[in-house]
Amino acid sequence: MSRPDTIDVLSRSRFDLLVVGGGIIGSAVAAHAARLGLSVALVDAGDFGGGTSSASSKLVHGGLRYLRLGDVRLVREAHHERRALTKIVAPRLVHRIPFLLPLYEDGPYRPAVVQSAILFYSALARSRLNWLVQPARARELVPSLRRERLRACALYADAWTNDARLCLANVRAASEAGAYVLNRAEVVELRKAGGRVVGAELRVDGELVSVEARTVVNAAGPWVDRIRGLENPAAGTSVLLTKGVHALVPAAGPWRAALTIPQDQVRVSFAVPFYGMLLLGTTDTPHEREPSQVAVEPADVEQVVSEAAVAVDPSLVAGERVRATFAGLRVLPAEARESVSVRRETVISWGSAGMLSVAGGKLTTYRRIALGTLERLRPELGIHVVDRRPWPLPGVGDAASSPLPGELNPALRDHLLHLYGTLTTQVLEPARDDPTLLEPLHPEGPDIAAQALYAATHEWALRAEDVVRRRTTIFYRGLAGDDVTRRVEELIGRAAVAAAR
Ligand SMILES: Cc1cc2nc3c(=O)[nH]c(=O)nc-3n(C[C@H](O)[C@H](O)[C@H](O)COP(=O)(O)OP(=O)(O)OC[C@H]3O[C@@H](n4cnc5c(N)ncnc54)[C@H](O)[C@@H]3O)c2cc1C
Repeated sequence: MSRPDTIDVLSRSRFDLLVVGGGIIGSAVAAHAARLGLSVALVDAGDFGGGTSSASSKLVHGGLRYLRLGDVRLVREAHHERRALTKIVAPRLVHRIPFLLPLYEDGPYRPAVVQSAILFYSALARSRLNWLVQPARARELVPSLRRERLRACALYADAWTNDARLCLANVRAASEAGAYVLNRAEVVELRKAGGRVVGAELRVDGELVSVEARTVVNAAGPWVDRIRGLENPAAGTSVLLTKGVHALVPAAGPWRAALTIPQDQVRVSFAVPFYGMLLLGTTDTPHEREPSQVAVEPADVEQVVSEAAVAVDPSLVAGERVRATFAGLRVLPAEARESVSVRRETVISWGSAGMLSVAGGKLTTYRRIALGTLERLRPELGIHVVDRRPWPLPGVGDAASSPLPGELNPALRDHLLHLYGTLTTQVLEPARDDPTLLEPLHPEGPDIAAQALYAATHEWALRAEDVVRRRTTIFYRGLAGDDVTRRVEELIGRAAVAAAR
């Protein structure tokens, strides 16, 4: 449905549920609710996934750190979700990868302690990958691993994902199940009747649009307290925010494992192979300003690269090799004191006028958080049972059943199947009439023009940054620049002209 038509429906209908915030949590709440047969609207002030859900470490993991904090339940749940995501929900977007945890002579952990922790972690993960490997074997997996004073490496398995695309797949699932979804639609006020929240006023393309709904869920992530404040100006603060910064450098050589790098007794940092780059991070510093003011400072990048250099050849992670950086905000319960030792629990609260707010938690457990949110809303929404069984997101299926043009080179084919799965045929459809759409958006990357057009026609992309940062892999490869922006803007314009015809 076109944007004007969606706006029209939003302003004329009364929904069962309005979800504020199209990050991974809001979009999954919307998708699950729509599949239950409810009428649902999902809105986001910026782009879908434009908040925390594209700024994570991109790990779908149990979280070794949480075991150290004694949170066995969280680790067990996360492993359960990781299995559901890799096997059923998003196997094309969530991939298993081995992790090496190097143990240096002057490091914070004793090998025996780590070995027993990894054994326990792997038992919770139902994984058999859990042993200590010698430095020579470790270098085969990670060629740039530092070997001076290295005693051994613990080996275990977790998974990585493309967080923005995972979020988008949930938005798409919501839309396919009948939800009306709109990005760049900011909730500026909540509508009330009889002391209850019954909808919201949105600012959309400079105009105000009213949406009516029986129930409103606030899934605004770091902005959760701002929306709670619209419900009740005295609502106060329910969460604390801390900033996490990542940096990307080109990976030299094939990395067949990621690195978990111990920094102290609790904190670890990561170096994860990601689209031919290494994703390094992250930091953890208090953020007391407006969420939208989160920014990468030079000191953050310095910290990220120097922490990576504990275990990675320092010349590989030197500051001048950094090609891209990004920052996101963790949402922690307000009573938290010290961020690193705080459990990444979800903060769920009912407001005085009946709005349910949900924030925090992990990307890994997004499904569980969304289902838990709907469980709480059962009486309001008149739902008897919330079906918790995992189901495949759009694009999941046997790619062989939708054959691709034979002339696609294998690398491009794999790239498209990873991002779109069975929807790849739709992405390539317009290229039948216009072969220039098969040309790369940047000569050094695999993303092609057809993807930008598809982002605008089928994936709600409105601006070049939506395509460059969240629909393709251009940003992560450090290939964003004026030429790419111009070409993407051209393609978005072309989609708009076609839609207006
Ligand atoms: C540095 C960092 C690393 C992380 N790494 C991992 C990891 O490796 N693995 C893992 O499992 N988890 C990780 N997490 C946690 C994970 O990223 C978050 O739990 C998850 O993305 C939160 O999603 P969300 O939908 O709650 O919030 P968000 O993605 O922030 O979505 C909230 C949305 O609300 C919208 N919004 C705000 N105000 C309004 C308004 N007025 N009207 C309409 N919309 C509005 C915003 O635009 C935004 O898109 C990490 C988090 C951080 C910060």
